[in-house]
Amino acid sequence: MDVDIVCVGFGPAAGGFLTTLSRHLVKEDGAPAVESGVMPGLPPQVVCYERADGIGFGVSGVVTRARGIRASFPGIDPSQIPMAAPVTSEKVLYLLDPVGASRRSVALRLADRLIRALHPLLPFERDALELPYIPPFLRKHGGMLLSVGQFNQWVGERIMTDGLIQIWPGTPVGSALIEDGWVKGVRLLDQGVDKQGNPDAGYMPGMDIRAALTVIADGPVGAVGRQIDEQFGMPPGHEQRDWAVGMKMVVQLPEGCALRPGTVLHTFGYPEPEIFGFLYVYPDRTASVGIFVPSWFQNPVRTSYRYLQHFVLHPYLWRHLEGGTMLSWGAKTLQESGRRGEPYLAGNGYARIGEGSGSTNVLTGS
Ligand SMILES: Cc1cc2nc3c(=O)[nH]c(=O)nc-3n(C[C@H](O)[C@H](O)[C@H](O)COP(=O)(O)OP(=O)(O)OC[C@H]3O[C@@H](n4cnc5c(N)ncnc54)[C@H](O)[C@@H]3O)c2cc1C
Repeated sequence: MDVDIVCVGFGPAAGGFLTTLSRHLVKEDGAPAVESGVMPGLPPQVVCYERADGIGFGVSGVVTRARGIRASFPGIDPSQIPMAAPVTSEKVLYLLDPVGASRRSVALRLADRLIRALHPLLPFERDALELPYIPPFLRKHGGMLLSVGQFNQWVGERIMTDGLIQIWPGTPVGSALIEDGWVKGVRLLDQGVDKQGNPDAGYMPGMDIRAALTVIADGPVGAVGRQIDEQFGMPPGHEQRDWAVGMKMVVQLPEGCALRPGTVLHTFGYPEPEIFGFLYVYPDRTASVGIFVPSWFQNPVRTSYRYLQHFVLHPYLWRHLEGGTMLSWGAKTLQESGRRGEPYLAGNGYARIGEGSGSTNVLTGS
């Protein structure tokens, strides 16, 4: 099949790109702003393939200052988006170790003792010290809490309403088609194969989608992005790729829970000093609670899953979570290398966007 633009993956990056693109495909009178190269007389033919079964899959809860989102949707009202809430309160907490299981340096142990000794004078509660100051990179005031899944669904519906762009969920891209040093489109994965990859009931060989431009938006460790990295290499000095692991639970908070929608808690200090944690509260007593295990953290013995258990059991958090119900949980990688991991953003027939393009800045956030 021939199209003008093919996009790999429908995450927040592709959602933003396709939203902007959809506004420039036709003029006000409905005539094509640019003519399609494959269907003369029509606007450019744009197709996006997402491997997940729906466009509403995602890493669930995030907090964002929403600068990019507001640029794409001026005047956006969070109440229009399912599960979204404006940020109403923010805290950064230093969690002390209530059980003595973390690997703390001598200096940190001394600091912990001092905090415990002075606790009546400090904003200290249930083994947690509230910082009097929120560092700028963590300040989300004026921003919003979003379920990425719900938000993607909302964005995807808007993109598809005018019929100019097609988004196909349940359609994984197998590889980029590379010919003579040019990306010429993508090859979809075979469908209906058994575990060994042999044709099974409903077998359909993966189609070749040829396009003038292939936009790769397949996230922090996408197979197609990595194929492009291997094929074209990285810009000089940009070879280092580092990933953190983010792991979280979505929890239905117990009835009577004091946390209000829009609450943002960021933590450090426990279950290990290097591990960052978060708890975000959405409407309908739903919360997202999780940790980031950084790439530079080395411990062959304990797993992120185990650490997440320890984290939610910290007394400061557990009093809110006890009696709640875990609705789902999952993990995802997070690009930590920033500019050092930035690949060539555009090349022969392709462009890179989103986390695979190295644009995630874990210090400033979104
Ligand atoms: C636990 C956790 C918490 C986070 N919290 C925040 C936060 O609070 N605020 C914030 O701003 N950011 C947060 N992030 C980061 C944020 O989720 C990412 O930066 C963002 O999702 C990146 O968007 P993306 O579109 O580039 O990639 P992704 O969201 O990874 O989307 C890529 C899409 O491509 C699809 N795909 C991949 N390969 C293929 C293929 N071969 N064929 C078809 N489809 C494919 C995937 O299924 C996916 O839907 C968090 C991340 C994690 C892990």
